[in-house]
Formats: sequence, C-alpha cells, structure tokens
Amino acid sequence: MEKRYSDDLDIEDAIHTAILTLKDSFEGELTEKNIEIGVIVIGAGSGGVRAGRIAAGHGAKVAVIEGDRPGGTCVIRGCVPKKLLMYAASFSADVEDARGFGWQIDGLSHDWPGLIAAKDAEIGRLENIYRSLLKNVGATLIEGWGRVTGPNEVSVGADVYRAAKILIAVGGAPQFTSVPGMKDHAISSNEALDLPEMPKKIAIYGSGYIALEFAGIFNGLGARTHLIYRSDLPLRGFDDDVRAHVATALTDRGIILHPETTIDQVTAENSGKQAHLSDGSRLAVDQIMAATGRRPNTANLGLDDLGVKLGKQGEIIVDDMSQTNLPSLYAIGDVTNRINLTPVAIAEGHAFADSEFGNLKRQADHVNVASAVFSQPPIASIGLSEAAAKKAYGEITVFESQFRAMKNTISGREEKTYMKLIVDKPTDSVVGVHMMGPDCGEIMQGIAIAVKMGATKADFDATIGIHPTAAEEFVTMRSARGDT
Ligand code: NDP
Repeated sequence: MEKRYSDDLDIEDAIHTAILTLKDSFEGELTEKNIEIGVIVIGAGSGGVRAGRIAAGHGAKVAVIEGDRPGGTCVIRGCVPKKLLMYAASFSADVEDARGFGWQIDGLSHDWPGLIAAKDAEIGRLENIYRSLLKNVGATLIEGWGRVTGPNEVSVGADVYRAAKILIAVGGAPQFTSVPGMKDHAISSNEALDLPEMPKKIAIYGSGYIALEFAGIFNGLGARTHLIYRSDLPLRGFDDDVRAHVATALTDRGIILHPETTIDQVTAENSGKQAHLSDGSRLAVDQIMAATGRRPNTANLGLDDLGVKLGKQGEIIVDDMSQTNLPSLYAIGDVTNRINLTPVAIAEGHAFADSEFGNLKRQADHVNVASAVFSQPPIASIGLSEAAAKKAYGEITVFESQFRAMKNTISGREEKTYMKLIVDKPTDSVVGVHMMGPDCGEIMQGIAIAVKMGATKADFDATIGIHPTAAEEFVTMRSARGDT
C-alpha cells in the first residue's frame, strides 16, 4: 500500500480491524426508527471515527451521524489543508535560501487557484478514506445533523435512532469577537482555506496557533501580513523566551506585528476592508481574518433540555472516562475543551471504545502532550514552560541554546534556532522542552517519548548526538543558564 503520511497508518489499522472482526454490515437497517444500536457517535471527525471503528471492532453495532463532510475539522478545514498551504508558503523562503547555494531562479509566480484545487483534491481523497474506514468495520454513516432527544435517543430530521450509548464528538467552530462589523466582514480560518483570490494585504486578529500558522501562510505566499493581538507577545501560555524569539523571527520574516492592540471595529468599502485599531489607526486590507479562538459546537444538540452540564464556553463537562452527568452520554475531543488537539481526541475516542465495548477500562492520558505550531519558523514543545515549572517544582535548572542553523550560514538568512530544556533540580527530570526552528515538530516527537518515559538530564547527556544536525543540541547542552 502506498504510504503518504501518517493518516495512512490509520487506514492499515482499520483494514486490519475489519479483517479481524469480519462483521456483517447492517447498512440499510437504520432507515427504520427505534433500532437498538450499541453506540451512536455524533460527528465523523478524527475522534468520532476512531471511537466508532474501535467500538465496531469490539463487536458493537455503530452508527455515526455527520451533517458535514466526514473527516471533521482536522481533515476538512484544519490540520491537513492548513499544512498543505503551509508547505506551499514555505517554498518562497526556500527559493530565497537557494540563491545563496548558487541557484539562479528568476520569474517566480504563484498560482493560488491551482494550489486550492490541488488541496481540495487531496481533501476529497481523505474524505473518501474516512467514509471507507467506517464502511470497512460495518459502521453505518447517517448523513444529517443529529440532536440528542433523550438519554438513549438521537434525532436526525424526522428519524429517531435509539442506542445504548451516545458519544458526542462534534468539535468546535471559529469564534468572532463581538466588536462592530467583525462577524459581518471578517473571515475565519474556514474561509481562509478557500478564498477565490489570494489577498495582497491581510490583517490577522489573535496570536494563538491559528493566527500564527495563517500569518506564515499568507506572508510566505506574498501578502503584506499584519498580526494584531492584545498581549505583549504572541502565543500566551507558551514559554516566555520562546514567545520573545517568535516575535523577532516573525518580524524578520516580514510580518508586521501590532502587540497590545485590539481591533475595535471592522468596516468594508468597495472590495476592501478596514480594521479600526485601538491605537487610533486604520488598516486598509483585502481581508481581515479572525483567529480569536474556537468554541465548542454544542448550540443545537438539545443538551440543555436534557440537563447535560456545560461549562462557560459551552463545552460538555465530562469525567476522566469522558462520561457526562447523563450516564448514557459521553463526549470527546474539542467539544469538551480539554486539550484541543486531534491526537488527543483520537486517544479519548479510543479509550472510550475500549472502556465501554472492549472490557478494557482505561482513561485517555492527558499528561505531557507534545504539540507544534506550524508557523514559519515552527515552534514545538512538551511539558511545562519555565514559569509553570518554577511554580510546580520550585527549584529548576534551565539549559538553552540559540544558534544559526547550518543551512542559514551561506543562505544568508539571519534567523536563529532556539532550544530550551527545563530540569527539576532535585530529581534531574526533564520537565519542559521547547524549540523554535526548522523541523522542530519532527524533532519534538522523539523527545516526547523520552520525556514521557521520565528521562533525566543525565539521560539526555548520555545520548550521543547525530552530527551535524540541529537536534543534537538537545543532547549537548552542558552549562545551565546562570540564573538557575
Ligand atoms: P488560541 O486559543 O490558541 O488563540 C486565541 C487567540 O485569540 C489568542 O491570541 C487570544 O488572545 C485571542 N483572543 C481571544 N479572545 C479575544 C478577544 N475577545 N479579543 C482579542 N483577542 C482575543 O485559539 P486558536 O483559535 O488559534 O486555536 C484553537 C485551538 O485549536 C488551539 O488552542 C489548539 O488547541 C488548536 N489548534 C492546534 C493546532 C496545532 O496543533 N498545530 C493548530 C490550530 C489549532 P490572548 O492570548 O490574549 O487570550
């Protein structure tokens, strides 16, 4: 089987499960009302599909309800299309760098509609794979919007389905601030992935994962890109040194930063938009993109009527087993607003299915989850920031390294890679690892295994580096920072 990237590993896994279980498909039966089903999953995203197919593998009758395209946020309008656009954008810096290595490259241009069409074709391929994943394990896909109408009952339009358990995995949606004109004139990441034309000027509001990733995309593809955010540095919650290095790197790449600034109004004139900033200035741009967080998709699920406990953001409150206060109702993924990452939703869905249908009670592990921001340059981390580690452990030692990657020497790029290790002094355990620089997502995945296993700084020191790489710095940092 051709392997393109890690999503395909899921397919092999699913086919394996399908062969093992050899379940009879019950497609068609569900058009009748009041059929007993083991679990109804609402939402065919990464978490819901994993839960459905593992439950089916354990022998449960499974129905998955989806009102949009199977694949969910990650596949259809998140991780996958975003990363394809990120690759597209990264070639412009590669071309600049290539000149330092002797390449003569003239007459560069970019075909935005061509990129969007190629991206759409790939998303279509993945959507079909998600449909097959469910079919192959004998789960039935019901296309429509599900509403929970009883502890064991879900309605889709006029049809009512009954199940022993219901799992909500409907994810979240972009959230706009309530300032005048924002909702009417700004786009979200959903629309940014499908714009008919590449904007020449864009203002992005917010400085979280999505804001930084899309700033990298539009800047790399040639738009004059403004990043407007209310805090002093981007990526609140990340390590402060990383945040400072990111601000410098984004500026050096040509992104115009507006820290400690809010957008107080958005207006539209002719085909352009204007962002009215809190410093009194007005930015005239082609597009304004709101990247001011996401909210759980609980509005139309009927949960209030059933007394299901929701949090302040509308998130479904669940316990460690992803169970709500209604015993037959469970929820996983972004709709629970725990750690809003695809692999976490998948782990929660898998743990739910094993626990409820596989006689294998277990919780999803939320400790030491690594993540990456696919900005340009990217950022990756696992464990605690320096400030959080100080609070949690008291006595810590910090090791850091900042250097110009070898590729940046003769390319002439000034950008520095930054790395940081945070160590609990009494136990020597590594409790935080952070990096900003090329390939850091790939590097951090390996580091995450070590941290998850409880690696000490001595373990890092005992590891011989791979030379010449940037990653080897993680095993060659010998001197602690002076103040720790
Ligand atoms: P984030 O929570 O990461 O960032 C939201 C941004 O919006 C912050 O900069 C925040 O500012 C700002 N903001 C929120 N409310 C307001 C307001 N009223 N006025 C002005 N600014 C505001 O959300 P994202 O939408 O970027 O991403 C959502 C989640 O999706 C992430 O937390 C992450 O879990 C996941 N994700 C993961 C990715 C990955 O793994 N690579 C990629 C994309 C998303 P402040 O910091 O000051 O509060």
